[in-house]
Amino acid sequence: MGKSNSTIELKQVSKKFKNSDVINRMNLKVHAGEFLVLLGPSGCGKSTTLRMIAGLEDVTEGSVLIDGHDLQTMKNDGKAIAMVFQDYALYPNMTVYQNLEYALKVHKVDKQVRKQRIDQVMDTLNLADYADRLPSQLSGGQKQRVAVGRGMVKKSKIFLLDEPLSNIDVQLREKARDELQKLHEIDQQTIVYVTHDQLEAMALGDRIAVMNEGIIQMIDTPDNIYNQPANLFVARFIGTPQINIIEVVLQNGEMYLNDHPLLKVMGHGELAQQKYYLGIRPENIKCSMTPKGDYSLPAKIDSIVDYGRFIQLSLKLANGCLIKSIVNSCDFTEDDQIYIDFVESDTVLFDHSTEKNLYWGKHE
Ligand code: ADP
Ligand code: MG
Repeated sequence: MGKSNSTIELKQVSKKFKNSDVINRMNLKVHAGEFLVLLGPSGCGKSTTLRMIAGLEDVTEGSVLIDGHDLQTMKNDGKAIAMVFQDYALYPNMTVYQNLEYALKVHKVDKQVRKQRIDQVMDTLNLADYADRLPSQLSGGQKQRVAVGRGMVKKSKIFLLDEPLSNIDVQLREKARDELQKLHEIDQQTIVYVTHDQLEAMALGDRIAVMNEGIIQMIDTPDNIYNQPANLFVARFIGTPQINIIEVVLQNGEMYLNDHPLLKVMGHGELAQQKYYLGIRPENIKCSMTPKGDYSLPAKIDSIVDYGRFIQLSLKLANGCLIKSIVNSCDFTEDDQIYIDFVESDTVLFDHSTEKNLYWGKHE
C-alpha cells in the first residue's frame, strides 16, 4: 500500500486504581500494520490497556509510545486513532447516519468521500435500513454495529476495538469479522482488538497477546499459542475441549503416570527425574480397542458425545482421572475398555513448579 502506519509500544506500563494493581509492568510492541488481538478472561485488564493506548486513561508508571513518541507529550488531533468502545458510546441525539458521519465532518473529509465511505460501511454491516434511526431505537447488536462502523469510516492509522462483536448474532458476526479482515488487508491499519473469545482471537489475529491478571502471558502467532503454549494458563485458556493436563514423573528415561509408563523419553538427558505436567490436546490422543504396546494406557469410556463434525470421548483412567479425546468416528460404546497412546511430539511438557513450557518434543 505504501501508506505509513503507526507502531504502538507499551514500556513497563503499570496501572493502579486506588490501591489495586490492574496492569503490571506491561511490555508490548505492536508492529505497523499488524492485527494484534488482546485475549484474556473478564477483568484481566484488557479494556484498561486499550484505554491507555487511546490516551483516555493515564498510565501510573511507564510509557506508551506511538511511532516512538510518548503519548503523554503528544498532541493528539484525534485523527490518528479510532476506537470502538465496549459500551458503544454512540451520540444519543444523532441518527445512525449522523453518528457515522460525525468524525469525518469534524476532520473535514470531503463530502463525496464521506458519503462513499459511510454507504460502504452501512452496506457491510447491514445498517442501511436503520440510517435514520436514533440509537434508542436500535437493539444492542445494531448499536454495536454502528459503533464498529463509526470506527471503520475513520480509516485512521490506529484502530482500537473493545469486544466489538460480542452482542452481534453469530452469522452477522462472522460476516463482520471477514469484513474487518478484508478492510485490514486493504488499509493495513494497525489494529488492537480486545476479546475474551478465543475462537475470535484465533480467527483474526496476526498475533495474539494472552493476558491474565494484568500480565501478558504470551504473545505469538495463533499457531504457536495453540501448539506451544508458554505456560499452563495459556494452554488451558486456548482450545475447546480443553487440553488434557496430567501429572507425570520421569524415571529412568520413561515418563510415568502413576506406575504406568506412557512414553519413552528420547534424548532428554537434561530433564531431571521429577514430577512434570504433561499436556496433550484431545485430538492428539490415539484410541484403540487393543493395546499397541507396553506404553498403551488402559482407559474406560465414560461418555460419548456426538457433535456431528466430531465425536468427543470422555475417558476414565485407572487413577480416576478423566481426560477428553476427539475423534472423527469410532465404534466404541460407553463402558468399553480401550487403550490410548501418546506421541511425544504431540505433547507439551510443563515444569511442575513454574508451570512453564519446557519445549520438548517437536520444538527445535
Ligand atoms: P477487562 O476489560 O479485561 O474485562 P478491565 O480493564 O475493564 O478488564 O478491568 C480490569 C480491572 O480493573 C477490573 O478488576 C476492574 O474492576 C478494574 N477497573 C477498571 N476500571 C476501573 C476504574 N475506573 N476504577 C476502579 N477500578 C477499575
Ligand atoms: Mg473490557
